[in-house]
Amino acid sequence: MFRIGYGWDSHEFKRGLPLKIGGVKLPHDRGLAGHSDGDVLLHALTDALLGAVAAGDIGAHFPPSDPKWKGADSATFVQHALKRVANAGYSLANVDSTLILAAPRIGPHARKIQARVAELLRVPLENVGIKAKTPEGMGTGNAAIAHVVVLLVKKRQDDDRALLAVADETPQPVIDDVVERVLEGVPEPEKKRTSSSSKITSKHRK
Ligand SMILES: [Zn+2]
Repeated sequence: MFRIGYGWDSHEFKRGLPLKIGGVKLPHDRGLAGHSDGDVLLHALTDALLGAVAAGDIGAHFPPSDPKWKGADSATFVQHALKRVANAGYSLANVDSTLILAAPRIGPHARKIQARVAELLRVPLENVGIKAKTPEGMGTGNAAIAHVVVLLVKKRQDDDRALLAVADETPQPVIDDVVERVLEGVPEPEKKRTSSSSKITSKHRK
């Protein structure tokens, strides 16, 4: 019915590169180095989606050794992972994320990132959580880190198919009878007889 997915990623800041987080270009003097566009949030999101359907990780699907992915738009990775989720018979319920970076401040751009991620995932805005923290005491001042969790829900058609499969099964009359009695709170007939007969016996003794 439900599946959970988790993804994590980190990239180092380098001067002279554009900064892209969650598919949004942010004004900053440094960008994230990586084989693709270095979008740490979309990479963690891709891993969370793939992980939720046990389909491996981003490196297996898009090997850094492949020149095809040099400078690639990470939105491509998210789209691919989303397709894997759909093929497995699931759809995305919601996503939550935490970014950890010293600079730039994410707060002023959070709404824009949320909107872009929701658009990429084709889910309502309120189903995408974007949070950010600074790396206090972690010594990762020159890196951006992203944690992402996703919740998937089984698609409707599959639910219907599962219900039909259950209905096709032969009912078990003995178990059904016991269950029914428990649900209705009806005591077992034999016990009732025993208790009433003992009452009669005690009356006679008096
Ligand atoms: Zn990455």
